[in-house]
Amino acid sequence: MSSIILGPSTIASQFWCEMAVDLRRKYGEISTPEKEKGTEIHKDRFLEVLEEIVVDIKTPGDKLHSNVHNILVGLELYKKEGLTRELPIVSKFNSALIMGIIDEVKEIEEIEIHNNKQVKAKKTQVVEMKTRKSLNPPSAQQIIRDKMQGMIYWYGLNSMINKKTEMGDFWQVYGVDLIENDFNELILSEEYMKSLEIPQNQWNTYGTLLSVGNLINKMLKKASELPSLSKTIEINYIHQKTLHEVHKERYRFDERFFSRGMKWALEYWAGKREPVSVGDANNWKCNFCSYYTVCPSIHKKWKEGE
Ligand code: SF4
Repeated sequence: MSSIILGPSTIASQFWCEMAVDLRRKYGEISTPEKEKGTEIHKDRFLEVLEEIVVDIKTPGDKLHSNVHNILVGLELYKKEGLTRELPIVSKFNSALIMGIIDEVKEIEEIEIHNNKQVKAKKTQVVEMKTRKSLNPPSAQQIIRDKMQGMIYWYGLNSMINKKTEMGDFWQVYGVDLIENDFNELILSEEYMKSLEIPQNQWNTYGTLLSVGNLINKMLKKASELPSLSKTIEINYIHQKTLHEVHKERYRFDERFFSRGMKWALEYWAGKREPVSVGDANNWKCNFCSYYTVCPSIHKKWKEGE
């Protein structure tokens, strides 16, 4: 049975309004200038630390290879500089596969107690960046959603560091069909390998299922060598116009909150329940919602008011 593949922001959005997540599935993403500006700022921050190489993606194998390559480059940069940005992660929670990109991973020092003595230990920290149109700090509800998102990234990177993420998870997430492929068959397209400037006589070295599998193994080994994760996650809220920080959240990964939240969220994806709307106490959120006109909860209210 194939697993459902979800992104951390989709799951976290269920904590804002699950009905809106459901409507996005039906009607697609509605782009707003605020979202576009946010994407632009994230890209600029990525380009501050890494170079972008444009490649020609034609097959699931190409997509898998380019992401595994990006993880490797990110891990190497982290090892050298103690910081990387836009690091892809893959992990599993129960039957769901999680695929996402962490905004920033940085090395920090934390005080630990060993044999009754305080010692400094190197740790890896997950940092999430949120851009805001307003200079006001985020609402409590926004912070809950963002904290959940940060915890999903934490869980994902922790799974990679602790060898819980397996090679098979990568084949599945990127839709590489192992049944139809043999180990020596090329799974990377000619266009992709040409865009990476791999000489034709080396395509069999780089482009087969076996060689991409070896690359995944190399990357997973490298990820497992990272300093263990700090339980503290950081979220920085940045004003879109001035790029000033308007708010910062530092909080700890909460296993109980995370596991309960994930189980609740996945019940919807498993079809065990209908999507939940915001309810009366939070119906102010509807005023900012792109799906207002198509939302069944709003239609119901209109009918009741007739
Ligand atoms: S209009 Fe309100 S209830 Fe409907 S999807 Fe948007 S936020 Fe959720």
